[in-house]
Amino acid sequence: HLSKRLAEVASLVPPGSRLADIGSDHAYLPVHLLIQGKICTAVAGEINPGPLESAKNQVEKLGLQGVVDVRLGDGLEVIHQDEIDVICIAGMGGSLISQILSEGKEKLHKVKRLILQPNVAGHLVREWLLNEGWELLYENMIKEDQKYYEVLMAERGNAEAPYQSYATQRDRKRAVLMGPFLSQDPNEAFREKWEQEVDKRNKILESLAHSEGIDKQDKIDKVKDEMALIEEGL
Ligand code: SAM
Repeated sequence: HLSKRLAEVASLVPPGSRLADIGSDHAYLPVHLLIQGKICTAVAGEINPGPLESAKNQVEKLGLQGVVDVRLGDGLEVIHQDEIDVICIAGMGGSLISQILSEGKEKLHKVKRLILQPNVAGHLVREWLLNEGWELLYENMIKEDQKYYEVLMAERGNAEAPYQSYATQRDRKRAVLMGPFLSQDPNEAFREKWEQEVDKRNKILESLAHSEGIDKQDKIDKVKDEMALIEEGL
């Protein structure tokens, strides 16, 4: 049984894919997809020995050795050029996700789909996709255990397409920050998440008001501008 967040990620894996789950931890995602018969093989990558052990234990417990290949390594270094159609990277920050993709760029030539689930800083992932020619095709905001998670899916294509209806620089900046599709078709989780982000910035402004420093006004202006940008999108 997958968490709501991982179930959303799983739903975006096309049947029959050769999947790599990078930063797999317990390998819940590939194991679930295999048991469901949705995929036939998978690679689970992990950089840390602890989670690597959890992944191996989980795979052995279910007798899936040789079907889920659990590999130790940093990011995409665990996969070979031609063996993977779909890469999932879930449960990390947007900064780490885009770093993993950048460092493993030469492994992406044959990859058809990326499923990315940033816990924070989803805009960095959208920026990466835009710069690297991947077209965002789907995004969602999931709420689970009082936390908000973005789930993004992209394939190679016209990276600009999702942003075409955002005419001004400012609209475009907001679309990258909050999501071009979610902004047009917001759900309850999206509204709650961004209202929370406005509250956070209000608190930052309060503490900045009592602070000292030569760059105080610059900081205040920056936070105010971010806040206005978000509020225009709500
Ligand atoms: N993907 C699972 C999920 O969404 O539930 C696990 C998320 S867990 C919070 C993040 C995992 O990524 C950790 O197990 C960590 O060891 C692994 N990780 C972090 N940086 C990594 C990297 N550069 N390459 C591979 N795995 C990494």
